[in-house]
Amino acid sequence: MEIRKIGVVGAGQMGNGIAHVLALAGYDVLLNDVSEDALSGAVSRISGNLDRQVSREKITQGAKDEALARIQTTLKLADLGQTDLVIEAATERETVKQAIFEDLLPHLKPDTILTSNTSSISITRLASRTDRPEKFMGFHFMNPVPVMQLVELIRGIATDEETYTACKAVVDKLGKTSASAEDFPAFIVNRILMPMINEAVYTLYEGVGSVKSIDESMKLGANHPMGPLELADFIGLDTCLAIMNVLHDGLADTKYRPCPLLTKYVEAGWLGRKTQRGFYDYRGETPVPTR
Ligand code: NAD
Repeated sequence: MEIRKIGVVGAGQMGNGIAHVLALAGYDVLLNDVSEDALSGAVSRISGNLDRQVSREKITQGAKDEALARIQTTLKLADLGQTDLVIEAATERETVKQAIFEDLLPHLKPDTILTSNTSSISITRLASRTDRPEKFMGFHFMNPVPVMQLVELIRGIATDEETYTACKAVVDKLGKTSASAEDFPAFIVNRILMPMINEAVYTLYEGVGSVKSIDESMKLGANHPMGPLELADFIGLDTCLAIMNVLHDGLADTKYRPCPLLTKYVEAGWLGRKTQRGFYDYRGETPVPTR
């Protein structure tokens, strides 16, 4: 089936990036959120990010204008009923996602494909509560969406080949690369990345190194573009902790136990860049390590 019109649910940091790249690739996008502010914020952020691409000569002014014109916003989820593909990118809570799919189902065309951008929730379980588990899969973009090349495509146990092929064609049209992952906790990227970040926090917790020496070691010694603690602040320490808990619960192996220091930062509300403090303090001119 050919996909032309795509619904994006959730206009937060991921939803606006997803709408941006879809519109730039020529898809008509209908962006939904429960918050009017989130929708208007998303459109201005997309416009600003497109402007940056124009100023860097990555796209033309004409391409920017056409992309923006392809994005419509709505507070009514039912409006997404006529789309060919829905990408759900709302808050990472299973009850929220389940309610979105339940509310959407009565309005959908019979062949609309449903997907979730979840970082950690079981695709098979989300799919099983819909009327179309064979037309349901994980569509996992990386942050920031306009910059990152990879999309993980996750098949639930029931996902059919036609659905996978249709979603892969969308990734191809975006000029991105897809990696196929089976539906197990945290899929591929976070299954490998989060234990490394958690181990960096243990290295700090046990006093093996300071924030600065750990990040410098991994940048200069392993050629990582960002240190693991800097990266954790960028992702959000609450998100890192949530994913470690999913790995720990889902795989029942103590090697995934979250570091108590990570829990402590989250309890303090020091969640990284988004709260101006995490392993670094971002309130001044340059980030200062907090340990
Ligand atoms: P966010 O908090 O920035 O945005 C979530 C948005 O969902 C908010 O605007 C909120 O108003 C909206 N929302 C909440 N309930 C809704 C509902 N019932 N209907 C419509 N909209 C609703 O979160 P985010 O970082 O954009 O994450 C969104 C999803 O993407 C999550 O599933 C997350 O796991 C996944 N994800 C995040 C990252 C990341 O690095 N942040 C990376 C990959 C995947």
